[in-house]
Amino acid sequence: MPDYQAMLFYGPEDLRFEKLAQKELARNEVRVKIETALTGGTDIKTYFRGHPKIIKELPSAFGYEFAGEIIESKNPNFKIGQKVIAANTAPCNQCFFCRKDQQELCMNLKFLNGSFAQEIIIPVDITKNNLHKYPKSMSAQRAAFTQTLAVCMLGFDRTRIQDRDIVCIYGIGAIGLCFIKLCKALRENITIIAIGSSEKKKELARKSGADYVFDYKKDDLKKEIQKISEFGADKIIEATGKPDVWQQCIELIRPGGLINYFGGCPHDSKIEISTYDLHYKEITLTGSFHHNPKYIQKALTILQSDLIDVESIITHEMQLKDLQKALMLMVSGDAIKVAILP
Ligand SMILES: [Zn+2]
Repeated sequence: MPDYQAMLFYGPEDLRFEKLAQKELARNEVRVKIETALTGGTDIKTYFRGHPKIIKELPSAFGYEFAGEIIESKNPNFKIGQKVIAANTAPCNQCFFCRKDQQELCMNLKFLNGSFAQEIIIPVDITKNNLHKYPKSMSAQRAAFTQTLAVCMLGFDRTRIQDRDIVCIYGIGAIGLCFIKLCKALRENITIIAIGSSEKKKELARKSGADYVFDYKKDDLKKEIQKISEFGADKIIEATGKPDVWQQCIELIRPGGLINYFGGCPHDSKIEISTYDLHYKEITLTGSFHHNPKYIQKALTILQSDLIDVESIITHEMQLKDLQKALMLMVSGDAIKVAILP
């Protein structure tokens, strides 16, 4: 069997570029030649800390977002030459949560790792639930964005955004920018207040459609938001994953408003919530996590239209061997998402 190159995760801050021997496909599996992989926030977390669910053994395959072409198939539904994207998980469709149609909470989610490589084997669970063909006219970078868009679309629905809402998006990395674009594309007369700090991200937020952009390091956010809407924002999407920001959001929401805590915090974090705010102000707090097959399908459908430009969120292209540099560029705030070309 021929060799291929892959970036392997040996432990926190230890990535190694290695040559691996191809493994044989099992029944119903397919082998995909990766055309583009994308970096994402989870890659950064995993790079620095490892990941209890994604990284099961060391060394481990690394990376979760990609698009490519089938080069070998033992699955009758997929043929050599077809362009495909795969989600990084597959639900079991049998557990309590799957039967409640909340597959993102599946107790037996199967994870797929290894997009930072020249090729990847798509296991049976994912070929069954979450492997999709896309047209050759669509670029691999756009197709690879499916997963990020899917988590945002699930989050968008959980935030119950309506026409004319004043929506505050706190955190303007790839996810925050994607939310800005979704709000503008899917609803009418939305006012977007974006909050960040890096000049590059603030500029991209403006270009993506934010009506107001504030800097949490310089601006008095409560005052600025009150100038736009006397009682606070109608909806807030928290996309930083920082407990102090989670806390601050409660001061920025209007009575009757809703906060979607989209950004996951470290495991033992806590915030304080006043019973008064929840009861007398009718504030709704919710979260949204991950994606499910329905949203992967929805996201791919949107990407096949020209409703949303996601290309501007992919700020750099780099080679697979330079993955570590790409991740550092994201940490510094210079890159939002990097297309990794194998
Ligand atoms: Zn399940």
